[in-house]
Amino acid sequence: MQPDRVALFGGAGFIGSHLTERLLDDGYRLTVVDVDSEKIDGFLSHDRLDFYELDIREAEDETVEEIVDASDVVVDLIAYANPKQYVDMPIEVVHLNYDQNLKLVEDCVESDTRLIQFSTSEVYGKMGGRQGDARVFSEDSSDLIMGPVENHRWIYATAKQLLERMVHAHGIENDLDWTVVRPFNFIGREMDYLIEEPDAGTPRVFASFMSALLYDHPMYLVDGGENRRTFTHISDAIDAVVSILEHEERYNREVVNVGTPGNETTIHDFAYLMRNVYEELSPTGDLPAIEAVSSEEFYGEGYEDCERRIPDAEKLEAAGWDPQYDLRETLEEAMSYYIDRYERAEPISLD
Ligand code: UDP
Repeated sequence: MQPDRVALFGGAGFIGSHLTERLLDDGYRLTVVDVDSEKIDGFLSHDRLDFYELDIREAEDETVEEIVDASDVVVDLIAYANPKQYVDMPIEVVHLNYDQNLKLVEDCVESDTRLIQFSTSEVYGKMGGRQGDARVFSEDSSDLIMGPVENHRWIYATAKQLLERMVHAHGIENDLDWTVVRPFNFIGREMDYLIEEPDAGTPRVFASFMSALLYDHPMYLVDGGENRRTFTHISDAIDAVVSILEHEERYNREVVNVGTPGNETTIHDFAYLMRNVYEELSPTGDLPAIEAVSSEEFYGEGYEDCERRIPDAEKLEAAGWDPQYDLRETLEEAMSYYIDRYERAEPISLD
């Protein structure tokens, strides 16, 4: 049965705001819960959208329960999802990303509501273990390998992994209908926030480099930028999430990678590509320097990187998912938005 009312917890963040737009276009009724509405302000007066400005850490239990109970599907996007946050405030990261999200899982069990739980590709952790130096990660066969406790970056992935395991356990013991989504570095407009100064907090790499290009500070390559990521255009990602939402029978009780396997690059090459695309799109803009920096200097103690991760996208591809954006097209589309909006304008926080 096609869902009618969908609740998006964390629905005004980067992924949530794109999902809100798409689901309204597709005719759904939405309940969006978030701590602020800035990224979806343009939709607040829509007659099929109910917005609750609240922090689930402080909200009345009954309010959240009522929202869950009134929905056909809950999509849970609430998370701190930025490596700088895992390093700076690991306890709060677990409190929000595990304790609070687990309460939402339990509310779904209680009211028999289907759950689409956003997790992270970070749960695959480092390369190694049984997969040796395998770099393509499959949902149901790859090991999940975390670094030592003193590298507390892994607290985020560990919390997300335990949340996935609890979602799975509630499926076994309490008949919860669920799908877990593991995103692989989505990028696009409205991602994170821009920073005027390089030390003003650290958004994820695309927003960090975009800020450097717009506000003319260096693009920093952490540990030389040798590590790799597989970037996915947000609209391809949203197509995948909508397919999951609309095909419960296919995706029920499945973990699903969402990522474009062909879009792998080193961060070093990513920086040069972004600079190159910027030069094409904004020929008069000055080009910032690209500088290497140690991870300790950049993030502080407790950081350790994921070297490489490519999604096995077989589950989605078998259902017809066909990502449209290669890496260069992804950057051209996302960067032209920022250049149009911010070039020569006063810096505005997207936070
Ligand atoms: N990174 C970088 N410069 C920056 C921000 C990030 O070199 O200004 C690197 C980071 O060390 C990692 C990769 O880029 O190797 C991706 O980092 P991001 O924060 O986007 O998120 P992650 O994929 O690690 O969750």
